[in-house]
Amino acid sequence: MSNLAAIVADIAEEMRGASERGRVADYIPPLACVSPDRFGIAVVLADGTEYLGGDADEPFSIQSVSKVFSLTLALGLIGDGLWARVGREPSGSAFNSIVQLETEQGIPRNPFINAGAIVVADVLLGGGTPAEAIAGVLRFVRGLAGDERITIDASVAAAEQATGFRNFALANYMRSFGNLHHPVEQALGVYFHQCALAMSCRQLALAGRFLAHDGRDPVTGRCIVTPQRARRINALMMLCGHYDNSGEFAFRVGLPGKSGVGGGILAVVPGVATIAVWSPGLNAKGNSQLGALALERLATRMGWSVFEVKG
Ligand code: GLN
Repeated sequence: MSNLAAIVADIAEEMRGASERGRVADYIPPLACVSPDRFGIAVVLADGTEYLGGDADEPFSIQSVSKVFSLTLALGLIGDGLWARVGREPSGSAFNSIVQLETEQGIPRNPFINAGAIVVADVLLGGGTPAEAIAGVLRFVRGLAGDERITIDASVAAAEQATGFRNFALANYMRSFGNLHHPVEQALGVYFHQCALAMSCRQLALAGRFLAHDGRDPVTGRCIVTPQRARRINALMMLCGHYDNSGEFAFRVGLPGKSGVGGGILAVVPGVATIAVWSPGLNAKGNSQLGALALERLATRMGWSVFEVKG
């Protein structure tokens, strides 16, 4: 990987000067205050070697990238039983769309659209309180990244609570079908707090390593999930991780990836690396404009598309 350092530096340089940066999300007020000029990238290889560029150590609101971690936890709690309550198909609809829920009896298409992630949050409540479920998510992510400094930004969670009318609508609608087992406020409390996790690209790339390495932390060997589960989460990321932009992302980048409206994307190069990028400006579908471009550049130059693997 001798040229990786130079490629990461090139990409950070190109993104620093890019003029088409997209639009920062403003429907969650604190996110609107983040400068569109930020850009960070972190690549972590199997042996733990890190390649960092730009604002790689700056924490940002990971938003929907958190749905990967909450899904992993929920599968750990109830296993394949989750699939009775959440589908595994791309939605082809916006991340916060409600349209399919009516014809599909309150079963969200996949765990990465908001409706699906709210069901996952409901599962995380299990028999406990929202505070316990939120603490469980934070503990899990800190453990994965090996970094106790990771926090949840309470002001972001509160802003979502105050303005998340669409998410309340989704949750109430699903509750009417019996697909939420806890009060709407509790499931959303968990959901809003997981979305408000503040992490840097470096922390995110570290936390995602189990997905690239058969469900294990490749450095310590600690098993997080089975190899099959890791593959399946990657499959969902590839097909659903960018909502109605997932086809475009797979077409251009060719890697499992999960985006968030904070401008972060976590991408997985199976067996090789994890990559996290952050640029707050979003495209029309709510995914990081420069983040996707940076991943496209990196995957192309490194030959990292999963469709490029030579057996
Ligand atoms: N918390 C955000 C919301 O629920 C997450 C959306 C996203 O990152 N795509 O609207």
